[in-house]
Amino acid sequence: MRGMILPENLPKDFHLMCKQMKLIGPFSQILTMDNLPYKGPIQDASMHLIRNAGVIIEDGCITDIGDFDVLSTNKKITVEEIPGPSVLLPGFVDAHTHICFAGSRAADYAKKIQGKTYQEILAEGGGIHYTVEQTRKANLETLKQGTEKRILRHFSSGVTTMEIKSGYGLSVVDELKMLELISMLNEEIAVDLVPTCLAAHVRPKEFDHNTDYLDFILADILPEVIRKNLSGRVDIFVEDNAFKPEEAERFLMQAKHMGFSLTVHADQFTTGGAIVAAKTGAVSADHLESSKDRDIKALVDNDVAAAVLPGASLGLAMPFAPARRILDAGAGLVIASDWNPGSAPMGDLLTQAALLSNFEKLSFAETMAGMTCRAAKVLGMEDRGILSSGKLADMIAFPTDDYREILYHQGMMKPEMVWKRGVIYNN
Ligand SMILES: [Zn+2]
Repeated sequence: MRGMILPENLPKDFHLMCKQMKLIGPFSQILTMDNLPYKGPIQDASMHLIRNAGVIIEDGCITDIGDFDVLSTNKKITVEEIPGPSVLLPGFVDAHTHICFAGSRAADYAKKIQGKTYQEILAEGGGIHYTVEQTRKANLETLKQGTEKRILRHFSSGVTTMEIKSGYGLSVVDELKMLELISMLNEEIAVDLVPTCLAAHVRPKEFDHNTDYLDFILADILPEVIRKNLSGRVDIFVEDNAFKPEEAERFLMQAKHMGFSLTVHADQFTTGGAIVAAKTGAVSADHLESSKDRDIKALVDNDVAAAVLPGASLGLAMPFAPARRILDAGAGLVIASDWNPGSAPMGDLLTQAALLSNFEKLSFAETMAGMTCRAAKVLGMEDRGILSSGKLADMIAFPTDDYREILYHQGMMKPEMVWKRGVIYNN
């Protein structure tokens, strides 16, 4: 069991501790993920691979990267030596999570593996409404503890930037409670958190009609989100038992008009969502397990990134999204965890991506790009996800001298070292 990184070891202003220029290395291999296309297939041979490599870091950013022996000729630089074989990659960016919640859905899971359907579990008081009830009931400290624990577990697995959605509050007070907590944790700990307002997750029991609830979000929740500067992103769950495509389209256009960037839960069980994402100019359409060729084409034609969530397929025992087909059609494939208490409880992004890679025949480059450069772009954070001069020194090192070992171990080889803005956290 790897040691848990304690929050007190991760102060947000810690880059101040890293002002001094230092050289880190030698790494057996560095995969910079630089100069790769944001859309379409990628061969492993197109990756920029540097052997016996080093990185120079100053003030939390990379200032140089290249051959370790050449870089170490500058005797003024302090060297942070890497013992043993090591492969360096950019820190992972998880562009889709729901890790701010209270309560466990282990009881639901037990019923599911006994063969009960989602509808039966819902009727017995489980499902998403149970998580909403628990999250509303939880005091801030309880909600904070659980969320922080998940963030730090993710961080120790190499995720140095993570998106977190609201969506278990579904009222003004409770949606703001979630977003305020994410913002508070973002200030307190070093990991960068990107909050997204998912008030349009499902219609809460207090409302009889979807349109009334969506109007309520537009009139009462989003203006407060803007006023308190809690999120610049809006998401909606487009699905038969959540919000219909035409309801979502109207909602998203109004949210866009208010200044939000858009993302959509699309085509998980039925199609419609990807088309809505394409029509409304969303940055990404996420899920896509049921997408047909015309849905994928709409994403490609409108420059909408395609985020697949293998953790949800594993959680629900359903087929993976057609990631190979999505890439071959020319889309920008992002791989995210969808970590949530119901359909994706595992939360191990690398394991999920490794399994998806095997089932869908994704190259190492395609798999890693989906969790680094391509994921960072979806979040509008192009200062990371690539190791090159000027980018943030968010980096992860695996204990091997051959990058191919990482997917070969199917998620069980974890990074041994994680750097956030140039500061190291050993696992
Ligand atoms: Zn989701």
